[in-house]
Amino acid sequence: MAAAGEVWRADRGGTVLAAMYQLLGAVAALGVVAAGKFTFDALLTPDNSAFGLTTALLLLALATAVSGSTGPLQTQQHRLLGERVSQRVWDRLLDTTARADLVTYESTGFGTELERIRQHALEHPFAVTAALLGMSGSLVGVGTMSVVLIAVEPLLLPLLLAAGIPAVLLSRWASRTEFAFAHRLTGLFRRRHYLRELLTQRPYAAEVRAFDAFAPLRSRHEELNRAANVALRQQVRRRQVIAGLTTIGVAGALTGALLAIVALVRNGRIDLAEAGAAAIAVRLLSGQLGVLFGSIGGLLESAPFLADLARFVSSGPPPSPRGHKRALVDGVALRDVRFSYPGQDRAAVDGVDLEIRAGEVVALVGENGSGKTTLAKLVAGLYDPAAGSRWWDGTSLPAADIRASVTVIFQDFVRYQMTLRENITISAPTGDAVAAASSAGLTRTLGALPEGMDTMLGRDLDEGVDLSGGQWQRVALARALYRDTPLIVLDEPAAALDPRAEHELFTNVRATLGGRAALLISHRFSSTRMADRIYVMDAGRVVECGTHDELMAAAGQYAELYRLQSAAYR
Ligand code: ADP
Repeated sequence: MAAAGEVWRADRGGTVLAAMYQLLGAVAALGVVAAGKFTFDALLTPDNSAFGLTTALLLLALATAVSGSTGPLQTQQHRLLGERVSQRVWDRLLDTTARADLVTYESTGFGTELERIRQHALEHPFAVTAALLGMSGSLVGVGTMSVVLIAVEPLLLPLLLAAGIPAVLLSRWASRTEFAFAHRLTGLFRRRHYLRELLTQRPYAAEVRAFDAFAPLRSRHEELNRAANVALRQQVRRRQVIAGLTTIGVAGALTGALLAIVALVRNGRIDLAEAGAAAIAVRLLSGQLGVLFGSIGGLLESAPFLADLARFVSSGPPPSPRGHKRALVDGVALRDVRFSYPGQDRAAVDGVDLEIRAGEVVALVGENGSGKTTLAKLVAGLYDPAAGSRWWDGTSLPAADIRASVTVIFQDFVRYQMTLRENITISAPTGDAVAAASSAGLTRTLGALPEGMDTMLGRDLDEGVDLSGGQWQRVALARALYRDTPLIVLDEPAAALDPRAEHELFTNVRATLGGRAALLISHRFSSTRMADRIYVMDAGRVVECGTHDELMAAAGQYAELYRLQSAAYR
């Protein structure tokens, strides 16, 4: 019922139209029986028949034509309805993914679930509606044919109805095997989809070729195909057996009914015209019963998928209100903050104190895996600390407000395959994109682009202009400056810049930031020596903290790593 509600809300007019086609089909089927009876009458007892043979045949042709054409009409109507339903269910899925916080999103369970629902649950609300429509239409048909049959011979009816019981039981069995099958194969399909991306998408093309990885990846893809084939073949066998058993049951009941009609004619209980009409009615009724039981089966089959969808869209936190951007007067502070990723014993951030005062440039240095990015996500409100506290001007703000007030450029920032303007203004459409571009050092790049701000970037979708890694990084910087928050987190902002550009970025960083506070993450110590304060991280903890000069004087880990790095440069 919930599924039918979904379909109804997705497209009311379309649903009504589909129901009308269904009804028309049922009425036309009744017309076929009636016209058949008239035709037999006109043939066998011309004297007391209601219509002449020609009229009866014309009626029969008309009823048959209408009955035959409702199918195709309905098929086309269902295409429209199906698209609307899929759009609506997608909207619900997108609402759910928007609500999911980053930690949930990054856990693999969420991805697998989302994929399973994307693959299966999406088509089922529509399947259910089709089944409900089929069911209502066929109920009308079954009702009218039953009346016809009861009028001729009441015994024929229970015979046909009894044949339906095994059909329903069989379709319940089919439904269970289908859901279990979908559950089992989601992981495999995800891996195969990923390999297909690797083998076909542009961002991977260079590396896959450079490493001669095409053939090995291809053979892994084939392996998954083989596994999919084995599983699918088993499932298809199961369904074929079930379908075969169902057909045998239905055919058996039909044969029984026809034999009963023959016996009734022999006994003289009914005349030939009645027998003819009864035969048509039996044939049509068994067709309608087939639709009816098929629809019930469809409903049963969809039920677990729909429950899956319903559970998914109602899971997760309630929609969080949009955050408010705050000014930063005093500063941001983390106190004894701790965070672990789901399923990991070791804390990625373990008892960290950190302070960023308004307008300050603070650096976070440390080796790979020491917890810098995790800490940055905590500062930016993308993760919530498991223990400890996070203060904004001395108050504890909701994470949504923190996210609205802090901008992060990640190391693996997104290269939106959109225009330069859209790349910069993704956070909000109104604002001065050109000013942000020039603050980020894009003026020269902008001048060289054929359509300026409206040049398509990237080559994944359209024939856009591809930028160098360094230019893309400046686009990301422009995007961050454009959002204009009082704190910016830059995770390895110079990774793709050449040494001169990197030097320029860091020596001018305060001018570029225009008074905003910044948290700079880098493992290149030379680029962060100008920071107001440097935090050195190791295994999730802050091990040293101070200005460059203080840390050098302390002759600890920072000083040692700094000397190592500068020796390497010399
Ligand atoms: P850094 O930025 O200093 O390289 P990270 O903050 O990325 O360090 O990682 C800190 C630790 O957390 C590492 O041990 C890393 O393996 C782990 N980690 C990072 N991201 C995730 C994640 N999404 N799920 C599980 N563990 C993670």
